[in-house]
Amino acid sequence: MGMVLRSFGGAGEVTGSKHLVTVDGGARILLDCGMFQGRRKETDVKNRELPFDPAKLDAVVLSHGHFDHSGNLPTLVKHGYEGNIHCTSASRDIANLVLMDSAHIMAKDYEWMLKKMPDKEAVPPVFDERDVLKVMDHFVTLGWHRRFLLPGGVEGELFNSGHILGSSLVKLTRKNAGGGTTGVLFTGDVGRPGMPIIPPPESFPDVDYLICESTYGNRKHDPIADARTQLAAVIRETAARGGKIIIPSFAIGRTQELIFFLHLLSDAKEIPELDIFVDSPMAVNATGIFRIHPECYGESIRKAFLDHHDNPFGFERLTYITDVEKSKKLNDRKDPCIIISGSGMCEGGRILHHLKNNIADPRNTVLVVGFMAQNTLGRAIADRRPSVKIFGDSYPLRAKVKILNTFSGHADYEDLTRFVGAMDLQRLRRAYLVHGESDALESMKTRLLERGVREVVVVAPGVDYPLE
Ligand SMILES: [Zn+2]
Repeated sequence: MGMVLRSFGGAGEVTGSKHLVTVDGGARILLDCGMFQGRRKETDVKNRELPFDPAKLDAVVLSHGHFDHSGNLPTLVKHGYEGNIHCTSASRDIANLVLMDSAHIMAKDYEWMLKKMPDKEAVPPVFDERDVLKVMDHFVTLGWHRRFLLPGGVEGELFNSGHILGSSLVKLTRKNAGGGTTGVLFTGDVGRPGMPIIPPPESFPDVDYLICESTYGNRKHDPIADARTQLAAVIRETAARGGKIIIPSFAIGRTQELIFFLHLLSDAKEIPELDIFVDSPMAVNATGIFRIHPECYGESIRKAFLDHHDNPFGFERLTYITDVEKSKKLNDRKDPCIIISGSGMCEGGRILHHLKNNIADPRNTVLVVGFMAQNTLGRAIADRRPSVKIFGDSYPLRAKVKILNTFSGHADYEDLTRFVGAMDLQRLRRAYLVHGESDALESMKTRLLERGVREVVVVAPGVDYPLE
C-alpha cells in the first residue's frame, strides 16, 4: 500500500495547489489548499466544490502563505475539516492577511454587482471574514527544522524554501515495510539565492520521492545583484528630470524588498533625497508581519540592520499611508518623489489614481517590478501602449516605462536543476513535477533527466502516483 500522491490542483497549472498524500489507504494529509485563479465560471465552481471530502482529511501542511497555496483553506474548514494546519508562524500570519483581504474583496465585489448590475447574476463570495477566523483556530505553527507528528505514523519537517517570508519545503518521513524509512519532499514554491530579505533556499534534504514545482522550468532570470544598481539609476534619472517614480507593487514581499533596497540606497546616499511613500493599507499590514518575523531574515538584512538595532522597514524619508485623504494629497505634490502602491498588476486599488495623475507627464517614470498578466492595465503599461484606459478614460502614456525583471521570487530552471542535482540521486527514485504550465513542465523534465534523475513524471490531476 504505502503512500500515494494525488493532486487536485497545481498539477499542469500554477494555481489551486492541492496535493493529497494518502498513507496505507487510511490517513490523509493535504499539502496546501490554494485557490484557483481566473474569472471564468468553471474556476468559481472548482473553488466551491472540493473534489474530496474535507471532513475525511486528517492533517494539512501549508508550504507558504501565497493565495494560490493557502486561498481555499476557508472552504476546507467550512465543509467540515477538523484537523490541524501545520506551517511556520510567518506563513500563518501571511495567510491570515491574504485570506482576510480576499474575503473583503469578494464581499465588496458582490455588493457592487448587486447594486450596479442587478440583471446580471452576481457571484456570492466563496467565503467571508468569519470563515477566515475559523481557519485561524486550526493553525499549529513551528519553526524550520522542528519535527512534528502527522497521522499515519508520518513525521513532518519544514525547511526554508527561500521564496517568501516563512515559505517552506515540506518533508514527510515514514517507516516502510522493509524496516527502513521512506522520505518525500514537497517543494512548495522555491525561491532563489541572493534575494534581498529572506535567506537563500536550503539544500533539498535527501529523500526517495520529490514533488517539485516547475513554475519557471523553461525560464532564466537576470542576475539579482543588478536590482539595487538598476533601481538607483532609474531614481536618479527620473529625479534629474524633475519627475516622480510610480511603482505598482505586490503588497507582500515585493514592496518590502523595495523598501529594503531604498533604505540601503538612501543610507549610502546613492539616490537623491526624495520622499518615499508606501501608499497601500495591505502593504502596510504586510510590512508589519515582516517586522515581527526577523527569524525568517537572511544574513544580509541581519547584518545591515538587526546588528545595529535598526528597523529595516523604517527610515526618515519613508512614509506609510493608510488614510485615503493623505493618499489623495499625494496628487498635489509637484516635486520628485517615489510612490509605491497596489495592486501589483494595476487591476484596482490606489495605484490607479497615481497612474491617472502621472502617466501623461514625460518627466515621470512607471517602474514595473513584477509579473504583469495578460489583459491587465499593468501589462498595457509594460508593453508601452501609446495610450491606456484608466477608470474607463483614455490617457496618453508619456511617462517613461522601466522594467526591472530581477525581483522574481521563483527559482529558474538553472536554480531548480542545481538544487535537485545536489540531492542524493542514488536514493531519489522519482521526481514528480507540479505547479507549471505544460511547456515549463516538459522542459523541466528534460533538464532533470539530463542531470541524472532516474525517473521524472509530470503529474496529471486526479491520478494516483506511488510514493513507495
Ligand atoms: Zn508562492
